[in-house]
Amino acid sequence: MSSRSAIEDLEEFDLEVVIAAILGLLIGSFLNVVILRLPQNESIVYPASHCPKCKEPLKWWHNVPVLSWVFLQGKCYFCKEPISWQYPAIEIATAALFAIIFYKEGLTFQAFVIAVLFSSLLALSIIDLRFKAVPDSLNLFAATIALFANSDYLQNLQNAAIVAGALAMLRFYVSYYVSKKEQIHLQKQIKSAPWLKSYYPKYIMIEAMGEGDIIVGFAMGALLGLEKTLIAIFLAALTALPASVYLRIAKSDTQLPFIPFLAIGAFLSYLFGAQIVEWMHANYL
Ligand SMILES: [Zn+2]
Repeated sequence: MSSRSAIEDLEEFDLEVVIAAILGLLIGSFLNVVILRLPQNESIVYPASHCPKCKEPLKWWHNVPVLSWVFLQGKCYFCKEPISWQYPAIEIATAALFAIIFYKEGLTFQAFVIAVLFSSLLALSIIDLRFKAVPDSLNLFAATIALFANSDYLQNLQNAAIVAGALAMLRFYVSYYVSKKEQIHLQKQIKSAPWLKSYYPKYIMIEAMGEGDIIVGFAMGALLGLEKTLIAIFLAALTALPASVYLRIAKSDTQLPFIPFLAIGAFLSYLFGAQIVEWMHANYL
């Protein structure tokens, strides 16, 4: 955290955070379009915003972040179809992301990159929660801009590649072991090893981790570096634990999407990772 305690900085700082929050509201409004349209395979720039129910194009004053939703009492102006509370919620969340990140970084290019990166992770999280899959286009966009999150771009690329490579290997290890049981069953029917080419389509490979998670890992590595990425993954697993226990108890077949938890872990580690690393070095390492 930069030293912003001086009282004379206070006014300037307030203005920065307000500008950041307004920028966040606008980006949040755009994220709603991305979240709605990417899974439908629609363009995110054309046509202009319209009601998903009656297709009536919105007037400019239907499109003001948060305020329009409040003013229209959460209903379409034309057909009165309820508009999800998710729209203002995403706008407020993005405004908060921008305010917090610009408060931490100051009004810099890096702050903007990091804020757009976490906005993308927010959109990916919502899409993953809803569809249990994410579009590569948005995920790769996030991974690419993450390379500019710190000023040492080569170092960012190195960290990103190490994390993505490590996760890819981890995926092979875990998939291999959890697939082992199915393979033994398969081996009784066929005479050679199941990984040989002719049997490859029958080779049952249980995916232990989505490919999308590896791309998010690449972005995390670039943004956070190695130590803080490990902390982020630990925090992601920790926050996913209650949800995973709940699904187990409820005997639900629902697969837990992991990207929302990776995003939460990454944000916590971005904010507090430096202190956690310092504390660990002082006490354990
Ligand atoms: Zn409508």
